[in-house]
Amino acid sequence: MSDRQSVAILGGGMAGAAAARKLAEAGLTAQVFDKGRAVGGRMATRRHDGLQFDHGAQFMRAHGPAFAAQLADWERRGVVAPWAGGGRRVGMPDMKAPVRDLLAGLPVASAVTVTRIRRTGAVWQVETAPDAVHGPFDAVAITFPAPQVIALLDGSGFALSGIARASYAPCWSLMIATDAAVAEALVEPRTDPIGLIAGDSSKPGRPGGNRLTVHATEEWSRRHLEEPHDAIIAALLPAAEHHLGIALKPTYAAAHRWRYAQVECSLGMPCLYDPALRLGAGGDWCLGARIEAAYDSGSALAAALLADLGAPA
Ligand SMILES: Cc1cc2nc3c(=O)[nH]c(=O)nc-3n(C[C@H](O)[C@H](O)[C@H](O)COP(=O)(O)OP(=O)(O)OC[C@H]3O[C@@H](n4cnc5c(N)ncnc54)[C@H](O)[C@@H]3O)c2cc1C
Repeated sequence: MSDRQSVAILGGGMAGAAAARKLAEAGLTAQVFDKGRAVGGRMATRRHDGLQFDHGAQFMRAHGPAFAAQLADWERRGVVAPWAGGGRRVGMPDMKAPVRDLLAGLPVASAVTVTRIRRTGAVWQVETAPDAVHGPFDAVAITFPAPQVIALLDGSGFALSGIARASYAPCWSLMIATDAAVAEALVEPRTDPIGLIAGDSSKPGRPGGNRLTVHATEEWSRRHLEEPHDAIIAALLPAAEHHLGIALKPTYAAAHRWRYAQVECSLGMPCLYDPALRLGAGGDWCLGARIEAAYDSGSALAAALLADLGAPA
């Protein structure tokens, strides 16, 4: 490793990617670790037999100037495109595209689960399953969902004050391919059991065919969290048909459970950072249940690290 200050970014969702990009732009080495086969986190895409579903986040919207500028840049470069009106943007050709864009050219280790962090003197090492040790790093930034940050910190003998206040609602997601023609791009009943129905095939840059993603409401998902996938499909399919007013007769149906889907209670502060340890954490749980919140939190975490470590001359 070179003389440049180095930061281990644990988690390659929007928060981790935003942090890594900002650190790299300032001249630091930002090494990303993620347990997923591909980066993106809850900006997720499921592919099966030529089918493609955004089964996590459906779209992005900007409320503040920083993410608005980022969205505008992505749109100019074809990384995102408008969908369903109301300022909504989707990744092109899938929801992971903005995260891939932020991480382009940066060192990323995918499909590695971080099991422990340890500090020796003034440097950090990162342990990943089954048996690898990475480092040394000058600082560590963790961007998992808050309960997973807490688990890693507890298992490693560290703590970050305040993090336990953050909480999440779960979400069952149903993916359907059908021969039936579905007119609507986006339907949001928000009454049990259906929170939202999104026409995947109405999104720009996707493969043809009729595909839908259905998200259950938070309360329904919580009540049915431990039920088998078949039972979830059997319950959500007729409810979706009811809202759309058509028989879907799926040619493919699958369910995915998100245990930590949408932030219910956020910290109301952009990130956590302990300069004595050079250990920080961020993610949507700092600011709210949105991709923009993850982006803003990751950016703030990078700023805290830069203020402490100092950018190279
Ligand atoms: C069903 C659903 C629908 C949603 N809809 C929308 C929407 O329409 N619009 C919107 O703005 N937001 C939506 N969201 C929320 C949005 O997806 C999140 O706010 C945002 O993507 C969070 O980004 P993040 O980087 O904070 O966390 P994540 O995306 O969760 O990234 C964390 C990363 O950490 C990795 N990780 C965790 N533990 C480990 C470990 N031990 N080792 C290595 N890596 C690890 C994970 O693999 C993951 O990639 C939705 C979320 C869900 C689940």
